[in-house]
Amino acid sequence: MAIRFYNSMHRAKEDLQPIEPGKVGLYTCGPTIYNFAHIGNFRAYMFEDLLKRYLRYRGYEVHHIMNLTDVEDKLIRTCRETGESLKTITTRYAQAFFEDLDTLGIERAEAYPAATDHVPEMVAMIKQLRDKGHTYESEGSIYFRISSFPEYGKLAHINLDELQAGGSGRVDSDEYEREDVRDFALWKAYTEDDGDVFWETELGKGRPGWHIECSAMATKYLGNHFDIHCGGVDNIFPHHENEIAQSCCATGHQFVNLWMHCAHLVVEGKKMSKSLGNFYTLRDLIAKGYDPLAIRWVLVSTHYRQPNNFTFEALDAAGHSIQRVRDFRVRLGEVKGPGGSLDEAIAACEQAFQDALDDDLNIAVGLAAVFDFIRDTNKRLDAGDIGEDASKAALALLDRLDAVTGILGAAPERAVPEEIQQLVLDRQQARRDKNFARADEIRDTLLAQGWVLEDTADGPRVKPA
Ligand code: AMP
Ligand code: ZN
Repeated sequence: MAIRFYNSMHRAKEDLQPIEPGKVGLYTCGPTIYNFAHIGNFRAYMFEDLLKRYLRYRGYEVHHIMNLTDVEDKLIRTCRETGESLKTITTRYAQAFFEDLDTLGIERAEAYPAATDHVPEMVAMIKQLRDKGHTYESEGSIYFRISSFPEYGKLAHINLDELQAGGSGRVDSDEYEREDVRDFALWKAYTEDDGDVFWETELGKGRPGWHIECSAMATKYLGNHFDIHCGGVDNIFPHHENEIAQSCCATGHQFVNLWMHCAHLVVEGKKMSKSLGNFYTLRDLIAKGYDPLAIRWVLVSTHYRQPNNFTFEALDAAGHSIQRVRDFRVRLGEVKGPGGSLDEAIAACEQAFQDALDDDLNIAVGLAAVFDFIRDTNKRLDAGDIGEDASKAALALLDRLDAVTGILGAAPERAVPEEIQQLVLDRQQARRDKNFARADEIRDTLLAQGWVLEDTADGPRVKPA
């Protein structure tokens, strides 16, 4: 079966057909490094991580570029408010961003180009647009004339004719709403508010608008036409619409084949965002004692096009799921000697997982297949019906699926010594023989040696007392 992804451009699922067979060029819009990213931002980066890991699992070579926005309205405002330099702020939060990626197990992109290192590329692209008649100047700033690009609005499904936009004014701010469809700034003339943030270029003294950086850097690192471009749904308009206009008009080529956007992380029905104040940073949650793996679990396990409702109950439930996987891995690791095979169950689980992810990255269905496998295999472990080779094969399956999800590799918390494992097996035998006095005696022996025995739905487990 082919991999199918939902293309926001066509509002339908389409077969993945890379421009160069076996290779995928991927561009994802990165953070504005003016503060700590919140976990809503990380939902977007987590979806992109899953996408990339899955493509690699399916044998594709993925080349991933994520930009760092280190000059933009919000950043300049922060410089003004704090009195710190642009460089001081962006260096601090870029470092925090990379630490957070590592904490969450998000795999690194091939490159993280920063906007301020690409001003010449942006200037060159704006000049191309100017030469081709797509721009006009006003008070030293340069704007993109959206009426010069008949395809404008196609991604966001905005009908320009109905809006009679284009001639109706322009916007200077980097972010604006759909109601404000207008010509947008490519180059912003210097104002005093910008302090010492400016570049002297052929376009005059000023700074680039936000949108041009992604067009300039995506085409520089991935070519004029590449495979997949991602972001959160809020990026569709105006940011991605503007990227398409800039890139197509400058290069004369189609820009991107597949546009993929994730729904938001929401809190009580509202988008988690800095402006609403309903956000948690990763550091907030870790300070409250939450396991980064549980946070990853919550962010990765909802289908990317479904709003993901953030609650502390969901974090607790993720903690239990992690424990379940951990316990299962411990049990598998304890199996010794010959016994039954798991080949069929393993193949069925992996096929179900793959079918689910082939279908627009349906991770929820994929994980359900894994949990069915865990439940069924636990029953067989209870019955003593599985051999060591089968257990190892099951652990290898979990490792393969962990390479995709990053949540199934939970290492055992503490290795259980062999003599303790043997006592657990003896107790199971005693119970099978209905020798309950002996079974209880073994439980007491375990406790005396510092191990608590629990009978769970998945079979007996021992934990440090
Ligand atoms: P920003 O810093 O607001 O430009 O956001 C950076 C990235 O995070 C973009 O791809 C946004 O779409 C994404 N994003 C922001 N808030 C959320 C949220 N609550 N849920 C999911 N993605 C988000
Ligand atoms: Zn972008």
